[in-house]
Amino acid sequence: MTAADRSSATTAAAHEAPLVALRDVHLRFGANEVLKGIDLVVRRGEAVSIIGPSGSGKSTILRCITGLLRPQRGAIRVGDTQVDALRSEAELIALRKRVGFVFQQYNLFPHLTVLENLVIAPTRVAGRDRAAAQREARALLDKVRLSHKEAAYPGELSGGQQQRVAIARALAMRPELMLFDEVTSALDPETVGEVLTVIRDLVQEGLTCVLVTHEMRFAEEISDQVYFTEAGVIVEHGPAPRIFGQPESERTRAFLRRAL
Ligand code: ADP
Ligand code: MG
Repeated sequence: MTAADRSSATTAAAHEAPLVALRDVHLRFGANEVLKGIDLVVRRGEAVSIIGPSGSGKSTILRCITGLLRPQRGAIRVGDTQVDALRSEAELIALRKRVGFVFQQYNLFPHLTVLENLVIAPTRVAGRDRAAAQREARALLDKVRLSHKEAAYPGELSGGQQQRVAIARALAMRPELMLFDEVTSALDPETVGEVLTVIRDLVQEGLTCVLVTHEMRFAEEISDQVYFTEAGVIVEHGPAPRIFGQPESERTRAFLRRAL
């Protein structure tokens, strides 16, 4: 998809309900209020970045979207699912099949080959046919440019390669939404680019993505919307050119001066 296509797709999407909506989300760990009224919207086909200092609540927001954490107040919706109202483990598992989550630590299964890492969840969790799951896994390995590594074990790969396998493994569940939490932060600098290239391709194909990243130039390049968080609040949000080009808040300006 070209940038113009994506932009018109986003305009069309503006008339439908957002895929993700957080409304006035408050979350405490004991006495520590970590999210203090978060409002965040992700439309289908959008790439949304969350930037901000360490400890500001970015990872906590992503964990709320997957139902891993339950806020004390506020509403979280993903598609037709009211995430904050889910009670049963079965409902949470159903949600997590629809939301791919990739972290800094790739946590591949070390005793399984690359191909098998991609096949295991679709067959065991989603009950898909093994041959079909393998075909799909090979197509995904091609997408992350690792076809030649399908028989390798994770320990034989570089950090960047393992992270690309982790992305492909998440995609193997055919998620309607992908969350990326600082996926390049633990990588050697020379392998960061290959992982960002894969994410850029996914965004350009129109996969809905939420990214927490310290790669400011990348966030500026690929994001439709950028949210700047500090100390559990959204200080400001808007289209990437505005947040990076004309931030309204002095706090955003100060953060970007340090980060860029
Ligand atoms: P970020 O991802 O922006 O660096 P986090 O969302 O990880 O920030 O953390 C926000 C705050 O919540 C931090 O003060 C952190 O120490 C605290 N926190 C995160 N997870 C937990 C937890 N499981 N228990 C207690 N405090 C936590
Ligand atoms: Mg974090």
